[in-house]
Amino acid sequence: MEKVIIRRCENYDLERMREIIRTGIEGLGVTPKIWGRVTIKPNVVLAHPEIAPSGFTRPEFLDALLYEIEGIKKNELPIILSENSGVGIPTARMFKRAAYKKLRENHHLKLSPQEEDRRIKLTLKKGKIHKTITVARPVVDRDFLIYAPKLKSNVLVGGMTAAIKLNIGIMYSKERMYHHHYDLDQKIADLLEVGYPDLILTDAVEIALGGNQMTQHGHPLGVIIMATNPVAHDAVCAHIFGFKPETLEYLIESHRRGYGPLSLAEIDLSGDVSLEELQKRTQGWENGFQPVHELDINFDIRSGEPYCTGGCHGIMLDWLYMIRDRNPELYRNLPRWTVVIGEYQGDVEVERVMLVGSCTRVIGKLKTKKLRKIKGCPPRHKDLILQFFLKAGIRAPLFRFDMIMDSYFWGPISWLKGAIKNIGSSWISVSKQ
Ligand code: SF4
Repeated sequence: MEKVIIRRCENYDLERMREIIRTGIEGLGVTPKIWGRVTIKPNVVLAHPEIAPSGFTRPEFLDALLYEIEGIKKNELPIILSENSGVGIPTARMFKRAAYKKLRENHHLKLSPQEEDRRIKLTLKKGKIHKTITVARPVVDRDFLIYAPKLKSNVLVGGMTAAIKLNIGIMYSKERMYHHHYDLDQKIADLLEVGYPDLILTDAVEIALGGNQMTQHGHPLGVIIMATNPVAHDAVCAHIFGFKPETLEYLIESHRRGYGPLSLAEIDLSGDVSLEELQKRTQGWENGFQPVHELDINFDIRSGEPYCTGGCHGIMLDWLYMIRDRNPELYRNLPRWTVVIGEYQGDVEVERVMLVGSCTRVIGKLKTKKLRKIKGCPPRHKDLILQFFLKAGIRAPLFRFDMIMDSYFWGPISWLKGAIKNIGSSWISVSKQ
């Protein structure tokens, strides 16, 4: 039986969180294993006080976690906080915006943006999509690995992200978008071979829900979830969201590969909050997962095959939610465009057409005055934001001066630091398991 503990925690009170984390670690029986080099992987795809205030692991939560881990490991080595943010924004900037840099005032902590780290290439034995992956050294060269996800909804992976999906953030950027389409669930399961945490402590005090995975709004759930098995952990999280774990493809695939149980009958669930109470609380909370062409908006979206939840279709839905989350006025008044995604069977005879995705084409008559295309399989969020601005004049909320500076000024500096650090290091290919 894999243990999962859910404890009530109505706010980010430091002493309350420390007590919960301390007793959780004891309850899971991992105290003797916490020693040597400890790496923590939080979830900070994007953090910004105005446009992305709720979709990342809160610094207060990490503060409590750090105090407890320091109390156990008792050595002079710094704890490493390792992350690789998304949307082409350098992680170092996200560490600053998430107020993680301040954590160094009270903790012996090394912030380690993965783009700037030394990297290693690993061969995978069970990989279906990836035969090798390139990851930052702290994810591999460690004695104890802690995942500290933020519980939130995510339309790219069937509606929910918890511990397993965190692994997309251990990948070196160039590989991150590889097969990030209809294969995303398989890809995520591949990564468990390297990204298999020893401990999971989830910030679900406030969860982020219902919109874009980065910009969506916070909802108070008031719990901390703790486990050592990522599949059991995510299966419980799925129940909290009202999903059956057997409907989430990446969970099914992870279970099939032997990484953990899906069924509650095989999970030892304990704590001071019942699953039923949490399900009642989340009842009616929209997770936003739906086919992109069913949105009731001014865009006429024509979905073709393949339908890529983890690719163009999902990223388009996420882009639209970003506008809805942070600029509802624009969302209601989007200019009329027909957006085609995938190979669309049928005629398209309209004034303006945007083709999204490298494989996209109209198998039928295409007649239009204005035809634009956004390439990529899939295009990255950053590309969608820029290209919709340049080609359709639609300014998504992330298209703002500070984000542009982060991306196009600080981004290359981060990349350069990483390139310099990896000069002369030959890729060492080892099998992790
Ligand atoms: S380009 Fe085609 S295959 Fe690739 S993500 Fe987009 S819709 Fe899917």
